[in-house]
Amino acid sequence: MSREGPSRDTQYFRRVARLRCPICGEAQLFDGLTMRDSCPACGFHFEREPGYWTNAVTLNFMMTGGFVVMLVAPLAYTGLPVLATLGIGVFLAALVPTLCFRHIKALWLAIDLRIRPPTTFERLSGYLKVTGESRGKEARRQKPETSS
Ligand SMILES: [Zn+2]
Repeated sequence: MSREGPSRDTQYFRRVARLRCPICGEAQLFDGLTMRDSCPACGFHFEREPGYWTNAVTLNFMMTGGFVVMLVAPLAYTGLPVLATLGIGVFLAALVPTLCFRHIKALWLAIDLRIRPPTTFERLSGYLKVTGESRGKEARRQKPETSS
């Protein structure tokens, strides 16, 4: 028996590749360069526990290190002056993690969700948060009308 459509694990990776919520795929993970606390559509809280992004930082560091070494090490055999080679390495070591940190954080979220799927509590608390906030906004909008 074959399942139709992509599996949930594949969906996580497809959605975070577009920097969208891995759970619902509707909202963006980032507002500019800042990661949202939770999904505005489904309410899933992205930072699943304290210190959650430490592994994303480690992953970013490892990928940057590998990328820079792969690009800069061959330059040592080209006869380029050492200072120029070091300068290129330092420049890339600053540029690569800056450009990649959003995708690395999203990738870490998908990897973690693959390893530890969202609990019912996480899904339900997000759902309640979204519906509670929308009710609260409606109440705040209606409150001035009723008081005046
Ligand atoms: Zn969502």
